[in-house]
Amino acid sequence: LLNQVKISFYSRSVNEGFARAALAAFLVQADPTVPQLADIKTAVSEAVTNCIVHAYPGAIGQITLRAALYEGGVVRITVSDKGVGIADVARAMEPLYTTGNPDERAGLGFAVMQSFMDKVRVTSAPGRGTRVTMVK
Ligand code: ATP
Ligand code: MG
Repeated sequence: LLNQVKISFYSRSVNEGFARAALAAFLVQADPTVPQLADIKTAVSEAVTNCIVHAYPGAIGQITLRAALYEGGVVRITVSDKGVGIADVARAMEPLYTTGNPDERAGLGFAVMQSFMDKVRVTSAPGRGTRVTMVK
């Protein structure tokens, strides 16, 4: 492990941009290519947006973003919340599955994370929260 950061912020929409920018600023030291950085930012946007949209219905809660940089340029990112959680993670990760408003949500967030990152692991407990760990 070369370096790591942990940032906590409120589940407000404006903080999706903050999370992307903070992550990019942290990853500069790894000298990523433009497409590598774009992929990671896209995946993190989806994970943070999920916390904002789904984790705290009708309320504002805390989101924690962790980024760790390993030898060889490997990046591990964790996005976690202490919200409602997901009862059936396997089902939630199926493409096109959404509990959100179908006019706004496509049910593709997890599919996007999986296609842009090498590894995506989701752990969740109803009423306790959700943690998404991604490696690239
Ligand atoms: P899209 O991402 O395309 O806008 P979506 O958010 O519904 O739509 P996914 O990101 O794939 O699609 O998430 C699938 C479902 O998993 C969500 O509809 C929601 O039910 C659940 N979910 C995802 N993240 C969380 C979370 N942090 N807390 C609670 N539920 C979540
Ligand atoms: Mg989503």
